[in-house]
Amino acid sequence: MIDRILVTGGAGFLGSHICERLVDEGHDVICLDNFFTSQKTNVAHLLGRPNFELIRHDITLPIHLEVDKIYNMACPAAPGHYQYNPIKTIKTSVLGSINMLGIAKRCGARILQASTSEVYGDPEEHPQTESYRGNVNPIGIRACYDEGKRVAETLFMDYHRSNNVDTRIVRIFNTYGPRMHPYDGRVVSNFIRQALAGQDITLFGDGTQTRSFCYRDDLVEVIIRMMNQDDFIGPVNIGNPDEFTIRELAEKVIELSGSSSKLTFAPLPDDDPTRRRPDITLAKDKLGWEPGIKLDAGLKQTIDWFKTINLDDYRPPTPNYS
Ligand code: NAD
Ligand code: UDP
Repeated sequence: MIDRILVTGGAGFLGSHICERLVDEGHDVICLDNFFTSQKTNVAHLLGRPNFELIRHDITLPIHLEVDKIYNMACPAAPGHYQYNPIKTIKTSVLGSINMLGIAKRCGARILQASTSEVYGDPEEHPQTESYRGNVNPIGIRACYDEGKRVAETLFMDYHRSNNVDTRIVRIFNTYGPRMHPYDGRVVSNFIRQALAGQDITLFGDGTQTRSFCYRDDLVEVIIRMMNQDDFIGPVNIGNPDEFTIRELAEKVIELSGSSSKLTFAPLPDDDPTRRRPDITLAKDKLGWEPGIKLDAGLKQTIDWFKTINLDDYRPPTPNYS
């Protein structure tokens, strides 16, 4: 069946891949974005397709649309981006979710929220299961993102319980791949950019903190599966449970890119989580999904993509991107 599908943040890293997949499946896709952390070039190849439409709009403001499904992906995701205008970040998660849930309620549409592993803060439980309630500093510099996403989850559950809205929540763990913004300041893009330029690779802290990195193809597949699942609303962790220290990541990027870059160290940002790894038992049970792409293979593809782009074609979304 062909659906009318709204993808907010549809020009972003993950959103643009979701749009592409849905357009290829034949759905009528509306991509809505304010282009804060992305560029139109991410979806330019879709503009000629008859089932694709692009709207410049900010989800903190209401909009009237008729749709069957909504992927609510809009929100700056990199720490440097979401901390640039923290109040705007909270508005995007809170007002933006209310506006999108309002459309879902009026249209009877199914709506999926792109939540995050950041709802667990600096976790004291490891690996993180969905029942863990997290350890977020509510007054810290990451709170605009973490608490905004936590309130968004609350809104989704309350619209579901009180208004019978057909909601879905996915908690996304660190994801990387082609079409990441080269100036998003996140660890994978920073390290690859530095390695390819032969610059020092900057480890924040001593590099012993861990993350678990999921390749974009695995992530897009499970997001679409979750949207199409009838009897499961989540929240569900989605990510790759293979855990690496940031130093191990740097060493892999140097090796896979054949770089002569050296490691250098800079202060660890406040509230930077010490370790993070998803327990994906629920995703396996309910969605029959687990990631298939190992870090080395995904990094190779991402490095190859970075080699093809011209950095001058990218506008750093914020002045301090590294
Ligand atoms: P991204 O920055 O590439 O994409 C976000 C998109 O939302 C951008 O195109 C941006 O311009 C748009 N946007 C931001 N604020 C907006 C607003 N107020 N109105 C309209 N558009 C707005 O980041 P991404 O990695 O593709 O992340 C997509 C979603 O997934 C985000 O909600 C993010 O919080 C979530 N997420 C991503 C990761 C990850 O590792 N990539 C991890 C956890 C959660
Ligand atoms: N990091 C780093 N060097 C960089 C960018 C990030 O060492 O140039 C570290 C950062 O301190 C964190 C980890 O890499 O511990 C992941 O950072 P990122 O911003 O990608 O995502 P986070 O998971 O912290 O939101």
